[in-house]
Amino acid sequence: MRRLTPPRGARPLPARAARPAPAGRWVLPLALPLALALAPLSPRAARAEGAGGAEAALAALSPPCGASADGAARARVGLRVHLSPRLSPPLSAPLSAPLSAPLSAPLSAPLSAPPGAPAPLAPEDAAWLRAQLAEAARLFAPVGVCFELTALLARPAADGEVLTRAHRVALGRPEEGGAALARGEIDVFVVNRLGDVDVPGEEIRGVHWRDPRAPRRLRWVILSRVAQPLVLAHELGHYFSLPHSTAPVSIMNKTPRALPPMSARGFTPDEYARMRRAWGRMRREGALRALSGGAR
Ligand SMILES: [Zn+2]
Repeated sequence: MRRLTPPRGARPLPARAARPAPAGRWVLPLALPLALALAPLSPRAARAEGAGGAEAALAALSPPCGASADGAARARVGLRVHLSPRLSPPLSAPLSAPLSAPLSAPLSAPLSAPPGAPAPLAPEDAAWLRAQLAEAARLFAPVGVCFELTALLARPAADGEVLTRAHRVALGRPEEGGAALARGEIDVFVVNRLGDVDVPGEEIRGVHWRDPRAPRRLRWVILSRVAQPLVLAHELGHYFSLPHSTAPVSIMNKTPRALPPMSARGFTPDEYARMRRAWGRMRREGALRALSGGAR
């Protein structure tokens, strides 16, 4: 099992624009993804969200899929996002604080839909998702893939708080009330609170999770809404076969550290090589498919 524990006592992320990226051929220009992450919703997306038409906003949330470093079109991999109802007010996320207060009573979930139906998308969730997707698009360019949101599907309020292994597993098992996974795409579950199953009482920001019944084939990502923008890319790194790392520059390194700044972190050349091999393997096996692009 792999997980991302929060850096304890970590300072807030530095302002990305203020930090020039160091020279390095696998560190990509930051200006475009930053603009995407911070851009207001397009009129089209705003209209769609205002009308509750989450599906119409999918394309607006997915960042542009540019070319790979070698100029080839990047393959678009589908990402299906399963949204638990967003809490109002949202959690303030004192990570690693005791989970003493249950989420239920004082908090309401104003945006909800029947499980499996298109999920309504709050503007806060849209901005958060767009930032996660922009970082994943930026960091996976050297792999030759990018990620396209193909569905926003509702989960019940009970799936907004996932504290146990059994609950993590149940998310991906329809017979236990979970979602049917999409073969060839990546399923991502968004929750309000994700418990650390190894350290009772603490919480984490994201996890790449495997169904023990078929750990190679049945796996998914769980993200907490408190996750900062690099967490989706970290979990997708696991999805593309990466273990945790000790390299200071790698986002697969969970050790809290001041340097390099967040804006200069990414994947190492070795990690990219490993992810490219994993992409080829997953594509051959049909575990992932290219919606478009990615000519061999
Ligand atoms: Zn991890």
